[in-house]
Amino acid sequence: MTDRLYYRDPYLRTFDATVEKVEPRGDRWSVALDRTAFYPTTGGQPFDTGTLGGLLVVDVVDEEDGGITHVVQQPSVGQASDTSLAPGQRVHGEIDWPRRFDHMQQHTGQHVLSAAILKVCGARTVSFHLGAAVSTIDLERELSPAQIAAAETEANHVVWEDRPVTIRFVSAEEAAALPLRKEPARGGTLRLIDVESFDLSACGGTHVARSGAIGIIAVASWERFKGGQRLEFLCGGRALGRWRSFRDTMAASVRLLSVLPEEIPATVERMQGDAREQKRAAAALQTELARFRAGELAASAERVRLPPSPQGFGGTGRPGTTSDGEASLVLRAVDADANGLKALATAIAASPGYVVVLVSTTRPALVVVARSSDAAVSAQQIIATLTGKFGGRGGGKPELAQAGGVDAPAEEILTAARVFIVSS
Ligand SMILES: [Zn+2]
Repeated sequence: MTDRLYYRDPYLRTFDATVEKVEPRGDRWSVALDRTAFYPTTGGQPFDTGTLGGLLVVDVVDEEDGGITHVVQQPSVGQASDTSLAPGQRVHGEIDWPRRFDHMQQHTGQHVLSAAILKVCGARTVSFHLGAAVSTIDLERELSPAQIAAAETEANHVVWEDRPVTIRFVSAEEAAALPLRKEPARGGTLRLIDVESFDLSACGGTHVARSGAIGIIAVASWERFKGGQRLEFLCGGRALGRWRSFRDTMAASVRLLSVLPEEIPATVERMQGDAREQKRAAAALQTELARFRAGELAASAERVRLPPSPQGFGGTGRPGTTSDGEASLVLRAVDADANGLKALATAIAASPGYVVVLVSTTRPALVVVARSSDAAVSAQQIIATLTGKFGGRGGGKPELAQAGGVDAPAEEILTAARVFIVSS
């Protein structure tokens, strides 16, 4: 059994103890002491960090037999250390106080918040978790936002009244006669935490000495959880940290939007509406523009005679294309993305007798090939020829195919496409 110094004095930051056991644990050591101020992970509260004989304490474990194991990092090779932990040796311990005090604020705040929720709303706390950034309590049932606000107000009144928070030890029989907030989970001697005239709970954690040291209790958010509700809350320094982050975010938003903080939600809503309207208008204009450009490109098409039995064309066996063996060929470099090129090519090929090759003005280029349903020309094979010659990857169907990464000037790609279509 390790003597837990924090049980009686949670404000103890340094202590001296005798080493009882040292065991290697990987590249670390497990160290047992006769007494310690280090808090082990238990009851929803994380362990303390700090140093033992100048070596870093990286974990503290609550053992089944009532002992506490300190997991200590070995000094790295070459690092000078006057510490050789050995049984019987005296050792000096120092806990990381800012981390511990933060845990004390959150943990005491949890007692007060859980008690306030029980008093104001009649809802019990099922479990508590003190996390690295936020802490949570799980309630047995869901509360309304107004109920949560009322309990939060009550909890902060208790903070501002700066009530003493005291520790006492009682037997199970004595405890049975006391108005504990929660039925104790174990028997034997119980450690009670008493927030004067407000909350009495059995708890092995570390707490501040007066409720005023909690600073503030702020509920950050809530969500439905396992048939009840999970509340996220911040106390003291963590609440200040969150306030600073909100303040910076708010200031940046106010600067960007040039409105007062309370006008931000309505302003964002209006901007979203405007953006939707503009998107609709742009889409309508694009459709109209594509139709216009398609008409213009179709009008400038070149009439070509296709080889009567073109090798590699279509594969349908049909000679030529339209009844007279001619087709309207559109070859053009267009400033558009893949979707724009496809929409344009498809619009032109919707009329009979067209073969369309469009190349983007970027380099490497995008190439889209489309053909009318009556044109026995394979868009796929034209694309395969172009990627074979200039590189890039592509594919598609006989009516519509495309490729990206075709590395040549647009004019060269179009010339190669024309040669292939007319003379293959
Ligand atoms: Zn506690």
